[in-house]
This record gives sequence, structure tokens and C-alpha cells, in this order.
Amino acid sequence: MAKLEALQKADPDVFALVRLEEKRQRETIRLIPSENYVSAAVLDASGTVLTNNYSEGYPGKRYYQGQEFTDRLEEIARTRATALFGADHANVQPYSGSPANLAVHFALAKPGDTTMGLALPHGGHLTHGWGVSITGTYWKPVRYALSKETGRIDYDDVRRLALEARPRLIWCGATAYPRVIEFETMGAIAREVGALLCADIAHIAGLVAAGVHPSPVAHADVVTTTTHKTLRGPRGGMILCKKEHAAAIDKAVFPGLQGGPHDHTTAAIAVALGEAATPAFRNYAAQIVRNAKVLAEELLALGFSLVTGGTDNHLILIDLTNKGVAGKPAAQALERAGLVLNYNAVPFDPRKPFDPSGIRLGTPAATSRGMREPEMRQITRWMGEVIKKLGDDTTERRIAGEVREFCARFPAPGLAAE
Ligand SMILES: *Cc1c(COP(=O)(O)O)cnc(C)c1O
Repeated sequence: MAKLEALQKADPDVFALVRLEEKRQRETIRLIPSENYVSAAVLDASGTVLTNNYSEGYPGKRYYQGQEFTDRLEEIARTRATALFGADHANVQPYSGSPANLAVHFALAKPGDTTMGLALPHGGHLTHGWGVSITGTYWKPVRYALSKETGRIDYDDVRRLALEARPRLIWCGATAYPRVIEFETMGAIAREVGALLCADIAHIAGLVAAGVHPSPVAHADVVTTTTHKTLRGPRGGMILCKKEHAAAIDKAVFPGLQGGPHDHTTAAIAVALGEAATPAFRNYAAQIVRNAKVLAEELLALGFSLVTGGTDNHLILIDLTNKGVAGKPAAQALERAGLVLNYNAVPFDPRKPFDPSGIRLGTPAATSRGMREPEMRQITRWMGEVIKKLGDDTTERRIAGEVREFCARFPAPGLAAE
């Protein structure tokens, strides 16, 4: 990270916390599947004078003067996005994934229209029509569930529900689903019932860009994503869509929901999209999946119970019930030992959402540090020990020290080596 001399001088309190956070990111293993480490170049671009601008509108059609260079930057970001994903149109202005999904609702459905999405406790996102989200109150959501037997999406059941509900929008995509999503099947269902298909690839965008997960672009009317998960860009959102929806999507983002785009983020998105088009990134994405598969195999060998029995992508969902441990105390103990992940509901979880049965972990960030199969085996051994001796202070401290030394061998992109 940059030296931050001006910050240190002007605001020692904020500076100190930023440095402590940097140390935390350096000395622990991030296993939260939605987190990553951006490159130094992406970090540079996000910290530029572009934060000083106002650029309401789109390239060539702004409501402010002074857009000569911001227009060119946003054009680069849009062109790289459409080329990388093979989409007709890209909007790179959504402030994040949630505003992108709200913009799609606003653009393509009238308030009160029926929508369909995967239920939140089964791995769907809040913004796919969950009750506490605006998407679950201004629209009328119908929710599909995972199969109780397999823990997977039951496409026949999705079709049956869709035929019954005749939704305007069908959402697919998830925050905690370890398997391939069959976009082609979802697209066929949507067409059969006269719905539009919205594929939210927030978690897997990097895998899709690299061709290690099937792409929804040919099958979905609209594709939304965050830019900061496996895509490894700055915090932001993006909407890709077919030509016929381009005008409606752009209008919904601005002026429908947002004012000025965050030009410094747009610049960083352009950089990240440039990186994602390289062979090095394709290797990275393939390694994310290989690492997740090894992690899954090793966890199974230690007697952990995995939802769906394994993984096809970057993430793993563990049901800890057979270990006699709940998700939250497990996640807390693992954090004390330097292994950072989150507690998570498992499908049909009998426990409460704030105190669920499972934990969710993934490999994107560790893979960004250059960790590979042998390191996944080591991580699994540590996890097994921490869970087995849950709350044992000596074990947790020892492992935290081992993790710190281990991390020093795998410098994270964008972080000072110390
Ligand atoms: C992370 C995520 C989002 C929301 O992204 P934010 O940037 O946190 O608003 C939307 N959909 C899915 C599937 C996600 O995983």
C-alpha cells in the first residue's frame, strides 16, 4: 500500500487504524469467499484525483463540463466489460451489487410485479426479493428452495413454480452456493413462462470471465455483478445486458437511482477488467477452483459435512452439526487462530440466522497470495484442530502464530511487505 504520508501527518487516528487493518489483512488468511486482495494497480487507480469529479450522465452525454478524460475512462471500462464477457452492453456506474440489482428491478418490472429468486437461507441474495430488502417489499417475490436431498437447485421445481407464478423477472445467482448454476436451463424456463432472466454473478464473475464457470451472457437478459469479489476489482457494481434493455438499464441507474458515478472507481474497474483479460488471470481463476476442490476433499477426510458434498467453484459450505459445534463460535475460534471466514446458515437450517449451523469459506483471496494445493492442506489441518479443541486458548494462540509465519511467505497483492 502507498506510504500514506499525508494521512499520517493530518490524521494519526485514521492512519493508525488503516495500518492495523493492513496488518490484519497481512497476518491472517482470508477465507471469506466474497473478499479478495486487489492488485497494487487497482488500489492506485481507486486512490486518484478522479474522486474530485462530478460526471452525471454517460460518456458523450454528461450534465457537467470537464469530462474529456472521464468520458474516455468510462468508455474504456465499458468496452473492456463487453469484450471480456461477450455482452452487448455494459453499465459500470452502479455503486455496488445491491444498487445494480435494484436498478434492474426498477428498469424491467413495475412495482407489485411478481419476481422469483432463490430464498436467502438457501444461498440467495437479499436483493433477489428477500422480505427485509426493498426488492421484497415493492415487488412481489416468489422464492425457490434447494432440494432437501441434494442441497442443489431443483430445476424441475423452479420450472413448476415459475409456471404457477408467471413472474416478470427470474433471478439466479447466489452468495453461498458451491455448485455450477445451469444458466441455460434457467434461460429456457424464463422463456417458457415469458419472464426475463437476471443472472447475478457477483461471486463468480472472475470465474465466468476466465471460462472456469459457464457464462450466463447468452442465456440471460441481464447479468449483474459486483466488481470486488472473484473479479478482483474495486468495490463496485456492473450490469451487462442485451441491446434491447440497454436504454432502460442506463436510465434506471442514472437518473433513476443514482447521481454522479464514482469516477475513481470506474478507473479502477477499467484496470481490473484489463487484468481479468490476461492469461495470468485465467490461471488464477483455475487455481481458485483447484484450491477449493482440495480444501473440500481434505475437509471431507477430516469428517466435515459439506453441503452438496463438495464444490465446483470457489466456495464451500460446511454444516457443523455432526461436530457438535455451531457456526458462530466456530467462526470466532477460527478468527482467533488467524483463519477468517463467516458463519452461515445451511439449507433447511433448524437454527436461527444469527446463530446458524454452518460456516462458509472460499479460496479467492488465499489464491491471490499464491497459495496452492499444499497450503490448502495445511489450512484444513489447522481448521480441524481449532474445531476439535474449540475454545482452547493455547491451541488458538499457537496456530495464530503459525499462520502469521505462514502468511509472511505469501505476500498479498497491494499490501506492504512490512
Ligand atoms: C455480494 C452480492 C451482492 C451485493 O453486493 P454488495 O456490493 O454487497 O451490495 C449481490 N448479489 C450477490 C449474489 C452477492 O453475492
